[in-house]
Amino acid sequence: MKYKNITVAGSGVLGYQIAFQIAFQGFNVTIYDINDEVLEKAKSKFKIIAKAFKSDLNATQEQLDITFKNLTYTSNLTESVKDADLLIEAIPENIAIKISFYERLAKVAPKKTIFATNSSTLLPSQLADSTGRPKQFLALHFANNIWKHNTAEIMGHPTTDPKIFKDLIIFAKAIGMLPLPLHKEQPGYILNSLLVPLLSASLDLLVKEVSDPYTIDKTWMKATGAPIGPFAILDTVGINTVYNINLSSAEETQEPLAFKTVKYLKENFIDKNKLGISTGEGFYKYPNPRFLDSDFLKIKP
Ligand code: NAD
Repeated sequence: MKYKNITVAGSGVLGYQIAFQIAFQGFNVTIYDINDEVLEKAKSKFKIIAKAFKSDLNATQEQLDITFKNLTYTSNLTESVKDADLLIEAIPENIAIKISFYERLAKVAPKKTIFATNSSTLLPSQLADSTGRPKQFLALHFANNIWKHNTAEIMGHPTTDPKIFKDLIIFAKAIGMLPLPLHKEQPGYILNSLLVPLLSASLDLLVKEVSDPYTIDKTWMKATGAPIGPFAILDTVGINTVYNINLSSAEETQEPLAFKTVKYLKENFIDKNKLGISTGEGFYKYPNPRFLDSDFLKIKP
């Protein structure tokens, strides 16, 4: 395996999961975030995810102790990449933030470091120039709850080095992911090409006041046999990311319904710090959301 030292930039909903998964598989992982306060939050989230690794993967205490030893933390960008073979970027889904991050990173990262973005909606070609090393840049896209939904979509842009693309497939397997290579740039990869239209249609139904989140979720669950519905998925994704995606789309399309959705999400969720599972409330309340109730799909008198 070519890569030993991995840096994960951003310790939010996805970043801390990526870092923990890779450390669990025996790699040295450095976590970079904007300040020490955010990194402290990440440390407490690691304690929670460790429990999930125990219950879902039967991870032993010894494995988890080694995982914690493999993790280091810094808010100094230069320090975070000084030995990095691979940097995985999981910072906010905002092109201006990402470009400015890559421009700073390009100046301080060693030449050998490969950069991979976990962006869900941006194409690698939109960011490639800002990396200063387009051949060594591609997308490595994970799904939420990475230890259970262990997929890694791997997508280059037209000038990504094909050898690096292959190396990333090998790396994905080494960290316990099912590699899903894409041979062309595709907005939303495979997963989000399927998922985003579903989530967006659900929000449309809600904002147009056609129905409520529980009824919409019940429809999807009962009719397709899916274990959870679109609003439960939105809570898992995190309302911050959902808000950012809808804001970009409203600005691009200028459609009144899209702006209505953005306003709805801001007033009902962002302003009230209801950001989904991460804050204990989104469309559902956690840890015992209603869709898990045994009677959620039952016919009630
Ligand atoms: P998030 O908002 O939960 O976390 C972002 C993290 O980045 C925060 O810890 C924040 O402090 C940090 N950050 C902000 N500015 C930074 C900077 N300049 N440098 C370094 N760190 C910075 O976001 P998220 O949901 O984890 O999404 C991160 C990326 O992962 C996005 O590109 C998103 O599209 C992608 N992604 C998210 C999901 C999901 O389900 N949430 C799934 C797959 C991919």
